[in-house]
Amino acid sequence: MVYSNPSTGASQCTTNEIIHYVGIGLHNGHNVSMTLYPAAPNTGICFLRNDVDPEHMLIRASWKNVIDTRLCTVLGNEHGVTVGTVEHLLAALRSCGVDNLLIEISGDEVPILDGSCAPLVDLINQAGVVGQRLPRFGIWIERPIEVRQGEHYAVLAPSDVPRITVDIEFANAVIGSQCVSVDLIDNVFTEEIAPARTFGFADELQQLHEQGLALGGSIRNAVLLDDDRVVNEEGLRFADEFARHKILDCLGDLALAEAPIFGHLYTRKPGHRLNNALLREMFAHEDAWSRLTYEEINHRIGKEQVAEKSWMSEVT
Ligand SMILES: [Zn+2]
Repeated sequence: MVYSNPSTGASQCTTNEIIHYVGIGLHNGHNVSMTLYPAAPNTGICFLRNDVDPEHMLIRASWKNVIDTRLCTVLGNEHGVTVGTVEHLLAALRSCGVDNLLIEISGDEVPILDGSCAPLVDLINQAGVVGQRLPRFGIWIERPIEVRQGEHYAVLAPSDVPRITVDIEFANAVIGSQCVSVDLIDNVFTEEIAPARTFGFADELQQLHEQGLALGGSIRNAVLLDDDRVVNEEGLRFADEFARHKILDCLGDLALAEAPIFGHLYTRKPGHRLNNALLREMFAHEDAWSRLTYEEINHRIGKEQVAEKSWMSEVT
């Protein structure tokens, strides 16, 4: 049951059809046109900026290409060409099982849409996801890998079920302390994580606008908080929508590993910088993980039951 849905099958996948959409960037406020093309096996996820010299347009969605993490995750290539706010699209693609895709984009920021992954998941599902002839590999976590940046902390630990647990704490009374843990199986991502929107604070939004940032930000694409209330008339989609959105961000950032990760991510006060540091730590320690085919992964799941209690007690 655990790995029965097509997105977690043994073969690499791409989309069945071209996907096209338009929207505005959260930070630059510009209208951007997106066209997602099915791509050959082993292509990975690649952005193509069609508004620059064709020789400089390619930016691969890899942890190695993360150049800025202050407001969102920004990727860049050796020519200085960048694409920002990639995390929600990458979370949707990874969770729908899309391994290979060419993403043509007319500007330097992926549209924010409604601030969640739900519209993207709908577009991908409408297009369909098809298996390809080469095997998919997963990253199997062999031993805990951790990073700490002040009060921000993340650990990837062995687990027989892909799981993510996020702990957040904000002074704002609407958010407060929230902890959400999900097993990323079946439709859990689509139903429980994808609809969770990004969020911001009314006073900070004003400051960001004055600095020429978050120019596209509004209640149409974010949950806006003003002291102890939600400004959006429709309210929240989940009582703990904020922690759920952090899960979405973590999944998007971890998709930059360029393969599904089989482990348990526990993170406290996560952020884009911490997520990238975690991937860098993982790839720096080759003894901490294995690159396995899905056949090998299923074999491990059948044969080994990893005890999580031992390491969970260290971090909670
Ligand atoms: Zn986000």
